[in-house]
Amino acid sequence: MAEKVTPRSEDYAKWYTEVVQRAELADYAPVRGSMVIRPYGYALWENIQRGLDNMFKAIGVQNAYFPLLIPHSFIAKEAEHVAGFAPELVVVTHGGGKELEEPLVIRPTSETVMYSMYAQWIQSWRDLPLKINQWCNVVRWELRTRLFLRTLEFLWQEGHNAFATAEESEEDARRMLGVYQDFIENWTAIPVVAGKKTESQKFPGAVNTYTLEAMMGDRRALQCCTSHNLGQNFSKPFNVQYLDKSNQLQYVWQTSWGLSTRMVGAIVMAHGDDQGLSLPPRLAPTQVVIVPIWKSDAEKAQVLANAQQLVASLGKDLRHRLDNREEYSPGWKFNEWEMRGVPLRIEIGPRDVEKKQVVLVRRDTGEKTTVPQNGLQDKVVALLDEVQSNLYARAKAFLEENSHQLDSYADFKQVIEEKGGFIWAHWCGSSECEAKIKEETTATIRAIPFDHEGESGKCVYDGRPSRGRVVFAKAY
Ligand SMILES: [Zn+2]
Repeated sequence: MAEKVTPRSEDYAKWYTEVVQRAELADYAPVRGSMVIRPYGYALWENIQRGLDNMFKAIGVQNAYFPLLIPHSFIAKEAEHVAGFAPELVVVTHGGGKELEEPLVIRPTSETVMYSMYAQWIQSWRDLPLKINQWCNVVRWELRTRLFLRTLEFLWQEGHNAFATAEESEEDARRMLGVYQDFIENWTAIPVVAGKKTESQKFPGAVNTYTLEAMMGDRRALQCCTSHNLGQNFSKPFNVQYLDKSNQLQYVWQTSWGLSTRMVGAIVMAHGDDQGLSLPPRLAPTQVVIVPIWKSDAEKAQVLANAQQLVASLGKDLRHRLDNREEYSPGWKFNEWEMRGVPLRIEIGPRDVEKKQVVLVRRDTGEKTTVPQNGLQDKVVALLDEVQSNLYARAKAFLEENSHQLDSYADFKQVIEEKGGFIWAHWCGSSECEAKIKEETTATIRAIPFDHEGESGKCVYDGRPSRGRVVFAKAY
């Protein structure tokens, strides 16, 4: 029997790494800080891609592909952008055995290379809006890394939209955050807090950065994705201009928005338990696993024949798998599929064949029910829906239980240290208070919630007036 993973209560970080490796989502690669996404993890990522990609296309976004290598001078064109990314840049200085005249940067993000092309493609107001997304890898030289959460190279999508007016780009940055929220809550079953980043936390080069913050099983925050209103900060240095209806040259207004393989780590930590992963049915590479149970050869023939009929009756829309491997015991298989987070297990033994029934076992609750084989597909579909909603409801309850409204800094420090979670507290808006709180507690402002204004109060740090509560947490 396979060894159990370290319990979450004992060492959460160790639990996380063990689950990622044991469930075969990813493994460490030869280069420090980089990882291999294994077939099971990649299948999960492909389902994330499919779900999101359809949502993007439904609102008129097209996919394209831009190069990995970017001239170094491009990155330097936007002052905040270069300052923000310089410490993480990987620079190529040699090619074909010779030193390059101009060094090349391996993309940490693609604003600059994409907008150098937008400058050529956008001529008049008729070319707007332009909405392009790319699925690709990016490289950032991170010092402290962790599988899926922070690696030197990761996969993501980055969308880049261009508009004629400031209103449209602001509206778009929020619309794209809404698309992500829809996806994250309804597909990954993770509830989020939506809001704006503070000046110190926003994307280098953005006017505004919007974010979705989720709570992981150890009560830390994880930034799931971001959507930026870039204003004209990039269109000016890259000369992305269009002729408006009265034949005047104008700079475009832009947004960029991204979600990465980090989301896989979020799914592990939001839903996983001491038995391993627990995947949301809408994204699980295998939604249902059928485990036949037999002792004698006579039983084996009978059970397998029945199991095969059942598989056929489940149809093509469900992602199912018959585990008829003979080298492993049913108990071993149960553990294995629990570790891999398959939402539903169907057990079938000789007695079930006789009674024309099966046993269904939910991964999220462990609940077992015996149901007739007749009408199995409908039952399975209904149960998968239930698992999906239950995972969300459970994560939502956890988020609420671990969110605290606090007014004194003493309480703030005590709660963040002893309980963790999200702290909704008043903040005066000063970067100094934000920095001091971070220095003294390691908690950062995760988001200024959209509906935050309304309840005025006093800054939790220095007592100056505040127009609303913001969300603080220790974060990944
Ligand atoms: Zn303050």
